[in-house]
Amino acid sequence: ENAISIKNLVKTYSNGKQALRGVSLDIPRGSMFALLGPNGAGKSTLINTLAGLVNKTSGQVTVWGFDIDRDPRNAKASIGIVPQELVFDAFFTPLEVLELQAGLYGVPKAQRRSMELLRAVKLDDKANAYSRTLSGGMKRRLLVAKALVHNPPILVLDEPTAGVDLELRQQLWSYVRELHAAGATVVLTTHYLEEAQQLCDRIAIIHNGQVVANTDKETLLEQA
Ligand code: ADP
Ligand code: ADP
Repeated sequence: ENAISIKNLVKTYSNGKQALRGVSLDIPRGSMFALLGPNGAGKSTLINTLAGLVNKTSGQVTVWGFDIDRDPRNAKASIGIVPQELVFDAFFTPLEVLELQAGLYGVPKAQRRSMELLRAVKLDDKANAYSRTLSGGMKRRLLVAKALVHNPPILVLDEPTAGVDLELRQQLWSYVRELHAAGATVVLTTHYLEEAQQLCDRIAIIHNGQVVANTDKETLLEQA
């Protein structure tokens, strides 16, 4: 069964821009999946549709077997999204950011769960600092922790290493690999072939709002 199944997904923004032109894509459970494509290809629009941040124009999307139109709550509970932008309330502390998210998802023992995640992303020493004092890399890690608060089976990262230095990129990759090894389905968007190649077992290429290739990594490399 698929972690995510997308059929004929179309998104036309209200200015007329067709960001997705009939995307169909199945992402198997347990895979480490890359959505590879240049800037403007439609990757964020696709991710934001899964996250409930963009209203699709037409098409069908199921997440962990739940249709996002008919069963949006279960669909949302099955996915954790790490957005591209490092945006959250700078006046909250990391611990508060996570507790708030835990509250939204009805996670029991919110404080304990939040501290556990802060330790996992090595931010426990910043638990009570204001978020505006965090470096870019720390913010990225906090957003990963936030995406994982409700323990979703699917983790989606939108351009996780954009603007991230080499050291943090290595840290992030090794943490994501651990999560995958522990059973998570991981989906990431990137415009670096190298990142897709090194991390993922399947790669779909998105270009101009359409999926133009979708194969396992070895096949893609043979064709290249
Ligand atoms: P929808 O079609 O889903 O209602 P809108 O077209 O209203 O979405 O756009 C949502 C927001 O995105 C608006 O505030 C708009 O200004 C902004 N926006 C417009 N063009 C772009 C773009 N190329 N990239 C990112 N954001 C954009
Ligand atoms: P990617 O993540 O692959 O860079 P996006 O999904 O951000 O691609 O954008 C796909 C296309 O849709 C681009 O041409 C972008 O300018 C446009 N776009 C993104 N958001 C909006 C918006 N809110 N309103 C209008 N156009 C948008």
